[in-house]
Amino acid sequence: MELQLYNTMGRALEPFVPIHPGRAGMYTCGPTVYNFAHIGNLRTYIFEDILRRSLQYFGYGVDHVMNITDVGHLTDDADDGEDKILKSARESGRSVWDIAEMYTRAFFRDTDRLNLLRPSVVCKATDHIADMIALVKRLEEKGFTYQAGGNVYFSIDKFPDYGRLALLDRQELRAGSRIAVDENKRNPHDFVLWFTRSKFENQAMIWDSPWGRGYPGWHLECSAMSMKYLGEEFDIHCGGIDHIPVHHTNEIAQSEAATGKRWVRYWLHGEFLVMNRVKMSKSAGGFLTLDRLVEKGFHPLDYRYFCLGGHYRSQLQFSFEGLESARSARGNLMERMARIPRDASPARETWGAAVSAVMKEFDESLAADLNVPRALAALWTLVKSGNIPDGEKIAAAAEMDRVLGLDLLKIDDGNLDAEVEALIAERLEARKARNFARADEIRALLKEKGITLEDGPDGTRWRRA
Ligand code: AMP
Ligand code: ZN
Repeated sequence: MELQLYNTMGRALEPFVPIHPGRAGMYTCGPTVYNFAHIGNLRTYIFEDILRRSLQYFGYGVDHVMNITDVGHLTDDADDGEDKILKSARESGRSVWDIAEMYTRAFFRDTDRLNLLRPSVVCKATDHIADMIALVKRLEEKGFTYQAGGNVYFSIDKFPDYGRLALLDRQELRAGSRIAVDENKRNPHDFVLWFTRSKFENQAMIWDSPWGRGYPGWHLECSAMSMKYLGEEFDIHCGGIDHIPVHHTNEIAQSEAATGKRWVRYWLHGEFLVMNRVKMSKSAGGFLTLDRLVEKGFHPLDYRYFCLGGHYRSQLQFSFEGLESARSARGNLMERMARIPRDASPARETWGAAVSAVMKEFDESLAADLNVPRALAALWTLVKSGNIPDGEKIAAAAEMDRVLGLDLLKIDDGNLDAEVEALIAERLEARKARNFARADEIRALLKEKGITLEDGPDGTRWRRA
């Protein structure tokens, strides 16, 4: 079946045709590890997981690379403000390395709980400074850079295609009126490749370079690392829509200027999660984490299910009522699944017409630019069907779960997981408040349910004893 994807570059649906038959190279911009991911960030990673799983479902081997931004992302996506990690370190009195380590761990703890497949390569910006310097040198040799005020800048006027992804208007780019003006810049849209004169005192993360000691501009890492692991041309690059006008636009400029060829074939962008019509963000109020949802008694997969209910290119309005509906729908689904006897699972070639029709609907939904809400409806048709034999139902649900990632075949009381997680969170709070009596009580309570807790450096893990 031909997979159609909406390419932001060109704003059109296109059949997916990879560079190397049977394999897809995919780069996803990863987290800036200065704080917990909020559930808006997680929505984008869930969309990217569905994309990756769909590619696998349609038979492609996927090389999935994700970066960890642990240096260089300023509080503004352009070149203004302070390094987000330095700021977080200063405010918490910890070292920048500790901050990055702690939030990277927290990030993967969240993504594991949401059943997101781990990328094939996870690469940290601070481990790839030499690759970034090499890229700046390449740009310098080709005449795309200039130095001013101690920094190395990329000159967008040397790259005629600048802004194609974001449909930026050349006229406006020339005038460059509305963005803050750094007087070193020849064009206000020029961006920093390498900061040699730190804006901040006590900059903890600096490296030697041909232009002096300093640190990289944020956009540089994604170009350098994606090309290192996926080659100078690869298939898919994705992120949230906020990355279109600055981050991805600048990534394209510096990558294509360096290589002289097209860098990425398909650009996919996820729309925002919004709350009371406002984009969820780390700076604005209403910042919700996965832990917060768990503390309120939700299972992480309730949130995954909630996200699957909206198409990735539409805004998704978050509310606790909406999340409760997702919880009850998922609970209902899991109960129905648990009631289906699971003896023999017949091979797909032997399936009857009824299940094949549902499966076709599922496949077509995904192939139509990942229409997951429609694919989820096909799952419900399957589960509720009166004329599909049990074995076929189980086999088909297993296939669908390769994409949906809802643990459909896990015979497990989904609510038990949520309850355990909530009690663990409560125990943590109790311990912080030095209420050890309550903490012990919770441990005992869980013991009665057959759950053993193990406290370790990564937090508390639990297992069925
Ligand atoms: P960051 O850690 O800030 O670099 O963001 C990580 C990812 O989350 C990026 O792909 C962003 O585009 C995305 N993102 C940020 N805010 C939201 C939101 N409210 N809804 C969905 N995705 C978001
Ligand atoms: Zn990036």
